[in-house]
Amino acid sequence: MSFGEFGVLQCLDSSIRKIRYSIREIRLKKEVTLAKEIPYQKIVDTVAQLSIDANCLIGDDIINAFKNGLKIEESPTGKDILNQLIENAEIAKKEMIPACQDTGFAVVFLEVGSGVKITGGELFDAINAGVSKGYKEGFLRKSIVSDPLRRKNTGDNTPAVIHTEIVPGDNLRITVAPKGGGSENMSEVKMLTPAAGAEGIKNFVVDRVLRSKANPCPPVLVGVGIGGTFEKVAYLAKKALLRDIGSVHADPFYAEMEKDLLERINKTGIGPQGFGGRVTALAVFIETYPCHIASLPAAVNINCHAARHKSAVL
Ligand code: SF4
Repeated sequence: MSFGEFGVLQCLDSSIRKIRYSIREIRLKKEVTLAKEIPYQKIVDTVAQLSIDANCLIGDDIINAFKNGLKIEESPTGKDILNQLIENAEIAKKEMIPACQDTGFAVVFLEVGSGVKITGGELFDAINAGVSKGYKEGFLRKSIVSDPLRRKNTGDNTPAVIHTEIVPGDNLRITVAPKGGGSENMSEVKMLTPAAGAEGIKNFVVDRVLRSKANPCPPVLVGVGIGGTFEKVAYLAKKALLRDIGSVHADPFYAEMEKDLLERINKTGIGPQGFGGRVTALAVFIETYPCHIASLPAAVNINCHAARHKSAVL
C-alpha cells in the first residue's frame, strides 16, 4: 500500500467513526426527548390524595363482600357486625373520615415505566412528602416511630414502605395501601420443605388464621405468598392483597386452592370480629414465584376488614 492510499484509508476510518458518534448522539437525544417527564409536585399531590382516599373510601368489592356475607352468616351477632361494618364504610365515605382509627403504615407499590423521568426532585422523596401531606391534611393518625426500640413518633406517618418495579412503557403507577398494625402482627413466613406440598401450605395458612383469632379484626382477607426466597415470599403475600374481591387466580390450580382455603377458613368458626360465625374471611389471594429445588417458602399476610388500597396512573 502506497503512502497516499494509507492516508485515504485513515481519513475514511476517521469519517466513519465521526458518523457513528453522531448517530449515537442523535439516538441518545431522541431517548431523552421521548422520556415522559413527571413533575415531583404532581407525585406529592397524587400520593397525598391517594392516602386520604384509601383510608376513607372502602372499595365497593369489600362492601359487596360484607353484603354477600350477610346472606351466609348464621350468627345474629355476626350479622349485626356485618351490618355495622357496612354502615361504618358508608359514613366514612360520606363524611370523608377514616374507616378505622388505625390509618396504618403507608405501604406504596410503584410500577415505574422505563421511559419515565422525574423532574424537580427524587421519586422516593416525592412519595414520602405525599404521605406526609396526606396524613396531615386528611387528619389521619400518625402511627410510625422512627426507631423500632426507642419509639419516637415521626409525626407525619413517614417513612413509607416503598416497593418498586421497573416496567416497560412511560407510565408511573402508584398504589397506596395503608396497613393496620393489628392485622400485620398476625402475619408469618414459614420455610417449608418441598415435601410439605400444597397440603402443607394449606395447613399453615388455616393454622395462622386460627391462631390469629379476633386480633386482625375479622372478616379478613388472606394474602398468601408461595415460592421465591425468604424475603420475596413476604412481598408476594402482601402484593396478593392488592387484588379485588371476586377476582379469580389466572391459574386454575391456584384458583381452586384459593377456593378451598376460603372454605376451610370459614369453617373455623371465628366469625365477624371473632364473636363466632361463618364469615371469618372474605377472600384468599395467592401469589407465586419460582423457587429453589430444596425450598418451599410460604407467607401469610392478613388484612383486616378495613382493606384499603387506591391507585393512580401518571
Ligand atoms: S386491624 Fe384493621 S380494622 Fe383492626 S384496628 Fe387495625 S386497621 Fe383497624
